[in-house]
Amino acid sequence: MGNILTSAFDEIYNFARANSLWPLTFATSCCGIEMMSTACADYDIARFGSEIFRGSPRQADLLIVAGTITQKAAPALLKLYEQMAEPKYVIAMGACACTGGMFKNDSYSVVYGVDKIIPVDIYLPMCPPKPEALLDALMKLQEKIKSETVEHRRKYLAENKPKLLYNQDVLLKEKLLN
Ligand code: SF4
Repeated sequence: MGNILTSAFDEIYNFARANSLWPLTFATSCCGIEMMSTACADYDIARFGSEIFRGSPRQADLLIVAGTITQKAAPALLKLYEQMAEPKYVIAMGACACTGGMFKNDSYSVVYGVDKIIPVDIYLPMCPPKPEALLDALMKLQEKIKSETVEHRRKYLAENKPKLLYNQDVLLKEKLLN
């Protein structure tokens, strides 16, 4: 009986969370333009309950990393993530956010994938992903949320703690941390 109640509660809880993801207004480069387009009338992200882009991380539970992240910006990204409310989710939007993209081979200043810093739920490659692709990533995230339990999520977060291992020595030297 207890299990039936728990899973019924999880289902309701997940349904509400999946259909009311509030993204943080955060973009660093060209992919951000596609993210902004997704919120416009043509694509209408409001159909998925995610039209409320928040200016404060404390009011957001979805971080769409739209654009290139430099090592200098890495501590700011981590801080924003840590200030977001739990449960929180991350979409890495674009080749740059997923792997460093076109900068991967010859740039000393770009982070080669934001999963070096924060846990990523959905990877959305392409350069840039179109608004339709971002909506598809959002639907995949909704499916993921609907299929997990609170326990699953706790375990996932315990195993994927945010970290700033990427060239931490360089960042410390430049006093970009703390
Ligand atoms: S993936 Fe392409 S469009 Fe997106 S930030 Fe990188 S270079 Fe720009």
